[in-house]
Amino acid sequence: MMKISKLTDILRDFCAPTEYRCVCCGRDVFDRLGFCSDCIERVRFNNGKRCLRCGVALNGEADYCGNCAFDKIYFDRAYSPFCYDGAVRDAILDMKFNNLGANARVLARYLAYTAVREKLRFDAVTFAPISAGSLKKRRYNQARLLAEAFCDILDKQTLLQETIVKIRETDPQEKLSASDRKTNLIGCYRLHPKADVKGKHVLLIDDVKTTGATVNECAKVLKRAGATEVVALTVASREENFDFDNSEE
Ligand SMILES: [Zn+2]
Ligand SMILES: [Zn+2]
Repeated sequence: MMKISKLTDILRDFCAPTEYRCVCCGRDVFDRLGFCSDCIERVRFNNGKRCLRCGVALNGEADYCGNCAFDKIYFDRAYSPFCYDGAVRDAILDMKFNNLGANARVLARYLAYTAVREKLRFDAVTFAPISAGSLKKRRYNQARLLAEAFCDILDKQTLLQETIVKIRETDPQEKLSASDRKTNLIGCYRLHPKADVKGKHVLLIDDVKTTGATVNECAKVLKRAGATEVVALTVASREENFDFDNSEE
């Protein structure tokens, strides 16, 4: 008779086909990169000049991006392995809107890699929440899937906790101008009744950081609850300033 552990391995493989498929186009891949050889050409790694605070890719001379230079920032640092465009943007949008939550397992490998490379120290791992209405519609929170996979990969499952709740529906951030994104989320997050972050170094996981409004509002809740440090880790980031013209989306 087949041993149970073997059976669960097989089931896991069967249920997780994207482990062996390109997260962008779905083509078979035979390594653990998660991108096929064509799509990897369209991946922009975020490893050039970056904002000293939030880690977003920068082109000009400045050390800080427009958001970090002018805003009240509650998170201490932020990191993301990718820039938000090309194949990674496709993979994230599929993860969110096309019921491809399994993409989170592949993208979480890059989060884990970044955490190790940057020597991040944390004693709690959490994720940006979505509202109850969105959860009902999508059936999963992609940030939670990323955080769960991240903890699995690094064997830190005991550090994972739900710390923030989103108490009201907000307009989708991607449909708003940059300045509206900042006000859209104010007051929509609360501390989870079971959150335990006092004196802790919290790692906050989310899929994308653009203006940083989501991670900043979440970090505000965590800091007010006594977190010593909040470091944001997102799959991808892109700088958007106050003058951002949103017509492309
Ligand atoms: Zn591909
Ligand atoms: Zn910045």
